Amino acid sequence: MRRVLVTGGNRGIGAAISVTLKNLGYDVIASYNSNHEQAANFSKEYKIPVYGFDLSDPLATESKIGEILKNHGPIDCLVHNAGITRDGFFHKMTLDRWQEVLQTNLFSCFQVTRPLIEGMRERNFGRLIYISSVNALKGQAGQTNYCAAKAGLIGFVKAMALENAAKGITVNAIAPGYTSTDMVSAIDEAVLSKIIETIPAKRLAAPEEIADSVAYLISDKASYINGTTLHINGGMY
Ligand code: NDP
Repeated sequence: MRRVLVTGGNRGIGAAISVTLKNLGYDVIASYNSNHEQAANFSKEYKIPVYGFDLSDPLATESKIGEILKNHGPIDCLVHNAGITRDGFFHKMTLDRWQEVLQTNLFSCFQVTRPLIEGMRERNFGRLIYISSVNALKGQAGQTNYCAAKAGLIGFVKAMALENAAKGITVNAIAPGYTSTDMVSAIDEAVLSKIIETIPAKRLAAPEEIADSVAYLISDKASYINGTTLHINGGMY
């Protein structure tokens, strides 16, 4: 049974990914940040172990990934999904908001991937999937920090694929469009309905529609797909 770590796997897109993969027979472990009660309920309901740690804290991340490997054994697949927004125009942005997004959404790739990649290379199998965003490709006013971080993931994926393809490891990104989760509920209602008007499909994605594509990329059927970005955005970009 292949073992998968899904970061931010307790809520929104991540929860849909965790549950979809669990239902397909994967041994799923989910991480979260600070939503302890929700994560405990999620864990109980779906029988998925959860680990709480802040991905923007390199030492906490290193230590918890070590604990996960010790408790569960080698990880075959990583879905790095956790992410945040701290929106605001760049000319008003504080260094804090810039750093928080870069640290959580991009720099965390190092801490979550580095402890897993050597084992994957030794075992000649691995699946690494990073959740980017349509806004990494098309840009979005008010999201310079987020767009920079999510575009960074795409470059990371391309280089990682070149380094690891010969070892049976695929490294891909998924760039979702606007998806019905807490992150999108936080957008002002009037602004959100304007955004939905710009989506050719005229609706948000369901988290399960993103999760199904993760299930495909992680499967043996996708063994020859490497270094790419899958766009799931209702025709928006
Ligand atoms: P949510 O806000 O619903 O959930 C975010 C998840 O990330 C939660 O599990 C949260 O944990 C976790 N998380 C946040 N910050 C940290 C941190 N510092 N350390 C560890 N875990 C953290 O997000 P979505 O489900 O909407 O988004 C999932 C991913 O998809 C994100 O990377 C997002 O950028 C991306 N995306 C989302 C889109 C959308 O429209 N929703 C569109 C395109 C991309 P906790 O519950 O503890 O807070």
